Amino acid sequence: MPWCEECAKYYTPNSVNTDGSCPQCGEVLQLGENAEHTHDADDQETNDESAPWHFKLMVVALVVYLGWRFVQLVS
Ligand SMILES: [Zn+2]
Repeated sequence: MPWCEECAKYYTPNSVNTDGSCPQCGEVLQLGENAEHTHDADDQETNDESAPWHFKLMVVALVVYLGWRFVQLVS
């Protein structure tokens, strides 16, 4: 979120000027946090893709292990 140090205020990306400056004082706002948010979203997307894959593998391994233990108990 764009932060203006002059006004000590956060602005929504839509409320700042088109060149990224503060609508109140004209100071160019810090957009570093915005870039970090984009990065976080990318990381999240990568995790969302890889997490279920590992999770499924873990569940399959657990089911196979428990099934094997069950067969051992019965026989
Ligand atoms: Zn300002």
